[in-house]
Amino acid sequence: VCRRLVDRTAVVTGAGSGIGLATARRLASEGAHVVCADIDAERGRAAAEETGGLYVAADVTDPDQVEALFRTADDTYGSVDIAFNNAGISPPDDDSILTTGLDAWRRVQEVNLTSVYLCCKAALPYMRRQGKGSIINTASFVAVMGAATSQISYTASKGGVLAMSRELGVQFAREGIRVNALCPGPVNTPLLKELFAKDPERAARRLVHIPAGRFAEAEEIAAAVAFLASDDASFVNAAEFLVDGGIAGA
Ligand code: NAD
Repeated sequence: VCRRLVDRTAVVTGAGSGIGLATARRLASEGAHVVCADIDAERGRAAAEETGGLYVAADVTDPDQVEALFRTADDTYGSVDIAFNNAGISPPDDDSILTTGLDAWRRVQEVNLTSVYLCCKAALPYMRRQGKGSIINTASFVAVMGAATSQISYTASKGGVLAMSRELGVQFAREGIRVNALCPGPVNTPLLKELFAKDPERAARRLVHIPAGRFAEAEEIAAAVAFLASDDASFVNAAEFLVDGGIAGA
């Protein structure tokens, strides 16, 4: 592995599991100081311990906790160079527009979309002060192509993340800040396993649409995040960055 991120400070939300955990490991292995944020203290602490970073307890839907998260990163390491705004939840049961309830819809927007708004808002002042920074927001392939498996709350939340990332990337490019939307295809993580356990047919339907014939591993997504975080991606901005094995509508 190359060492592209030596002495950069990276905040990773949802660092306790899945894509966030794999990314915390990858960024640390490239030399970054990793601030591991998660609502699950046990998992977040374990991630920080393993990566030699710092655990900060944060519910990404809480503005005060999100502000404190980025302040702690800056206070501890002196900069906020990378923000991987990744924490999210899977679609609620029966998330077709025909069946989904308003409370479930609102909860998904809160955790998947409002959280990204709050994290970007909190990270940007540090990046503007520095005159550089890379924000990577986790959207999903469904933001680009929708999901035949009916998950309207989730798809709409990720579409919001995608549009917000584009706009921020355009707005702050001249200040040396890049903002990209990471759009993974289905990834073997606890989130996906939980979803497929509830609805086994969904797994089979998804797989049919992936030319590679398999789901991604979290490490394959982490590698893309490390690229976007690094100067190797210096001209990659406001992108819809698909890492989906060539999925075609699932
Ligand atoms: P995961 O469930 O394995 O991990 C998510 C982590 O986020 C958990 O550690 C959880 O505790 C944390 N979290 C949840 N709510 C939080 C909150 N309010 N505050 C702080 N932390 C919170 O999930 P994953 O599969 O690694 O997913 C990570 C991101 O990738 C999500 O945004 C998800 O929507 C997105 N995504 C996942 C897939 C996939 O197939 N797994 C595909 C595309 C996009």
